[in-house]
Amino acid sequence: MSEQLRISAKNLGEVALPGFCPRCFWIKLRLQNKLPFQVFPGIFSSIDSYNKRLIHSWFDRHKGAPVWLKGLGTLSGYIEPPHFSKFNIMDKEYNILLTGSPDGIFVKPDRTHIIVDYKTSKYKGLHDKLYPMYEAQVNVYGMIGEQRGLAPVSGLALIYMEPVTDATAACDDANHRDNGFMMGFAANIQAVSLDAGIVRQLLKKAREIYEMPESPPGRTRCKDCELLANLLGVAKA
Ligand code: SF4
Repeated sequence: MSEQLRISAKNLGEVALPGFCPRCFWIKLRLQNKLPFQVFPGIFSSIDSYNKRLIHSWFDRHKGAPVWLKGLGTLSGYIEPPHFSKFNIMDKEYNILLTGSPDGIFVKPDRTHIIVDYKTSKYKGLHDKLYPMYEAQVNVYGMIGEQRGLAPVSGLALIYMEPVTDATAACDDANHRDNGFMMGFAANIQAVSLDAGIVRQLLKKAREIYEMPESPPGRTRCKDCELLANLLGVAKA
């Protein structure tokens, strides 16, 4: 029996990117994703969490969804997204524990569920170069949801919250406060098709890469690996 792997929805989604590097992924899997030199700004998770609270409090006060979510159709309520320690499933075929924590879960009048993820980013539709990763990420959520109390999942979506920073907004006195300024976010909803087949292909590829006894070749002309090779060359000399 192969060693059990634990992979988050987003990390599995990386495998779907056109510029995916199998060497990087192999290293991450072997190090259980504990990489050195990683610094992530906390502002994006703060915005996602504010976004979630904003929507939930609107539902609580107005008994319905804010108008900027109308692209999701009629919604009758929401469910607090579970923590990743509860929102996971074991894929027996590849012995991989799939984990995740979606940003939003909405209930439709027919009692089906829509699972969404918020992205603080310019909306480029299917031209977003990260779209294949996000598409896989929300499909993992859909797959977990089906087995963890959200069946049936009837829809998936990405909600791009695009900062409104044009000249009109910059010249609007209403955006000034005594203690700073306001910045708006415009919502763009991108529906994602339910496709468990995408997830199964990525699980297969992830297992194949992990089982390689040595790291596979990296991306050609990747500056970071060139720097490392040069450094190791200097260290050996
Ligand atoms: S080639 Fe680039 S992306 Fe791949 S392992 Fe090296 S540094 Fe990472």
